Amino acid sequence: MRSLREVTAETLTLAGAIVEPIAPEGLEVMAPTEVRQALSIPEWSRLGFGTDLPAGARRVALEPDWVSGLQRLIQDRGRSVRMSLRSELSGKPPRDLERSVAQQIVLENATFRVREVAPAKTRYLLLSFRLAVVSDEKIEDFIQLCVNESNSAIADSMVEPLLKRLGETNGWSLADGSGAELPAPWSARRVEEYSTKVLPPRIKLRLTPVVAGMERRMDRDLQRLHTYHSELWNHARRQFNARPERKGGQRDPTAELAKLDWIEREYVAKIADTRLKYAAAVEARLEQVLRLEIEVWRVYITILRRKMSRSTHFDFCGLSGALERLPCDSCWNCSKTFVVCDEQLHLLCPACSSPCPSCGKTFCQVCHGTLCPKCA
Ligand SMILES: [Zn+2]
Ligand SMILES: [Zn+2]
Ligand SMILES: [Zn+2]
Repeated sequence: MRSLREVTAETLTLAGAIVEPIAPEGLEVMAPTEVRQALSIPEWSRLGFGTDLPAGARRVALEPDWVSGLQRLIQDRGRSVRMSLRSELSGKPPRDLERSVAQQIVLENATFRVREVAPAKTRYLLLSFRLAVVSDEKIEDFIQLCVNESNSAIADSMVEPLLKRLGETNGWSLADGSGAELPAPWSARRVEEYSTKVLPPRIKLRLTPVVAGMERRMDRDLQRLHTYHSELWNHARRQFNARPERKGGQRDPTAELAKLDWIEREYVAKIADTRLKYAAAVEARLEQVLRLEIEVWRVYITILRRKMSRSTHFDFCGLSGALERLPCDSCWNCSKTFVVCDEQLHLLCPACSSPCPSCGKTFCQVCHGTLCPKCA
């Protein structure tokens, strides 16, 4: 992947600045008005990206303000790009590809056979989302989704290799989107539906360490509140118990009881405040759409159930070295085990093939929506 210094140099040059590399790990910039305003830098400046700064340079790091400034300069350039990668297929498919397919799919109520393994071209949709997490602290991050447009397979294993391969510019050319053998590009609506279904579990996974950190801080705060209010309450209670002996006279407990009550209410309110403070709102915004045409080895299979059959395929891309998994036709998450529907041989993952809670019959949500056809 390219460095922040390279990305900054390219962006500023595109925006009309004069940019010269200087040592160590810096840039000297003559900036036109648009660049000065976007990045809050003077007309002439020096920027430093490494541990050691060039003389008189301002330090630049991957911080939200700088990234937003670069984005303002790029505007919509490069947000949606189609590129094609020169063929990198060797003459023969990898050995054992057919056997790998057999290990990759379990059909509970159907069989399948491999028809053919042949070179093919597909299009990977690489979607980059900017994540903003707002909680007791603000965190920004990026997350990518990769999907094979030919069979809807989520290609998580392609994300890292693709980002790395995109950093090496050789072999890529701008694609014109033509080519009869390519799958039809997904519509914006389908991309949106797909992302809405498959992105949340991935965001959750990505944020696991962040959430664990927040939970640790919240537990510590709750513990402190508990200790503080317990001590306060015990102290008030001791005073309350001691008072009649000290006074030796009539006891009027109203004030003491009110104090104990106040401590309890205060504790409950403070707990609610703390939980609110650590509640996290996460926003994911689509920043870039890359359509990448790449040659793959395609394993064509036929699924057989009763007297019906359906064709589909697995793709193997040398960049990841992994055979993709097929997606569930209902939730689009990839699975190894499927139940095949009777009507159109849809592939349903275990979660999407659970029986109707009223009649106990399994039905296909792709064919019938969420309502069981027997009970509707
Ligand atoms: Zn499913
Ligand atoms: Zn039912
Ligand atoms: Zn179905």
